[in-house]
Amino acid sequence: MAEKEGATAAPRPEFDPDDVTFVEPPTCSLCGADVRVYPTVYDRWVHLATADLPAKDVPRPFRWRLVKITPPHSPVVIDIVAVRVRGIDPIPGELVTPAHQFLCAAEQAERSVVKGALDR
Ligand SMILES: [Zn+2]
Repeated sequence: MAEKEGATAAPRPEFDPDDVTFVEPPTCSLCGADVRVYPTVYDRWVHLATADLPAKDVPRPFRWRLVKITPPHSPVVIDIVAVRVRGIDPIPGELVTPAHQFLCAAEQAERSVVKGALDR
């Protein structure tokens, strides 16, 4: 599953949360669009869209949030992980980070077929 979704990138040795540029910007292997690659809390990596969208424009299965990780007793952000938005729905105008899969042109056709199943 992780390999199928391209979640095979090696963990970065360092990460600067203020640095939004990459030496080699990661791109989607299906459509070639720029993506942001973040670790998840369960040792997988996920491709996220490069811009946030209001929650009302993002179907529930594709809503992610970036969570800053700080050590105890320190304000220094040591990493950022992607966490699926679950439980209580965000307010409609609240910004969430869509999974790139939601915006991926190469996956549009397939998703339209299974939209009903995903939109629970
Ligand atoms: Zn894509």
